[in-house]
Amino acid sequence: MPIAIALHGGAGTIIRSEMSPEQEARYRSALQEALHIGFYILQQNGSALDAVEATVRHLEDCPLFNAGKGSVFTAEGTHEMDASIMDGRNLSAGAIASVKGVKNPVSLARMVMEHSGHVFLAGEGALAFARKMQCDPADEAYFFDQFRYEQWQAIRHTDRFQLDHTVKPKDSLGTVGAAACDQQGHVAAATSTGGMTNKRWGRIGDSPVIGSGTYANNRTCAVSCTGSGEYFLRGVVAYDVSCLMEYKNYRLEEACREVVHTRLTALGGDGGLVAVDGQGQMSLVFNTEGMYRACKDTEGETVDIYR
Ligand code: ASP
Repeated sequence: MPIAIALHGGAGTIIRSEMSPEQEARYRSALQEALHIGFYILQQNGSALDAVEATVRHLEDCPLFNAGKGSVFTAEGTHEMDASIMDGRNLSAGAIASVKGVKNPVSLARMVMEHSGHVFLAGEGALAFARKMQCDPADEAYFFDQFRYEQWQAIRHTDRFQLDHTVKPKDSLGTVGAAACDQQGHVAAATSTGGMTNKRWGRIGDSPVIGSGTYANNRTCAVSCTGSGEYFLRGVVAYDVSCLMEYKNYRLEEACREVVHTRLTALGGDGGLVAVDGQGQMSLVFNTEGMYRACKDTEGETVDIYR
């Protein structure tokens, strides 16, 4: 079976003229490193599930992206993270929302899937479970990032909250996610985010919601989304791609284009997704100026940012 992995580091107003060559090089090398980590696992006959978890962990550890280290500030000046993971073999899934103090939210989501008997844990309860599982903790200082802090200060005393994409890229931007197909033709997907700057009231986006931000089913494909979460929730975007394949026999690329360019755009949502099917086909689609993205199969690899 052909192996394949596709990943994203967020979609939005990413414009070439506003990015210095040095910044661009930093993004490209971070995306490429993460890509190689996942692909190596697939080459070694590892599972798609292990590949997407390791890839997303690497992106979480990189302060360039709005996930794990590098997560945006909430209205209270904290970091609350959301993540999810899904295994296309048996539709098992795990997710966490509004979690503080966990170094790698995607791994906590996987622990939820494998050890909690539940699918979705939030807030204090998720944190208590993380402690029980001895999931790597991290203190507030670990999550501090000067650029994120300035983003927050700019709107801190207002009612505004802001999607990471709507600001000019400087040092950091973007939810992260990956989708992969392994040598057995099994697919998996994972997504992780810090959400929106200055978010309040326990706001949760699409990233940890199975079917909206993440979905995987061996019969169809694995999908990870990024963009204005409220629209992705309403469009049940990741599952919609899978549905078009399952019920209407769309090919992967057709399904992704229909969902992003027709349905999501009609709703008014902006963003994109990466998807991989059980034959190792990949699709990376977005309706924004750019999407940090990369993909690799046995034929070659691509790392790209702009439209
Ligand atoms: N979808 C994420 C959210 O709404 C944000 C993003 O993808 O940048 O929380």
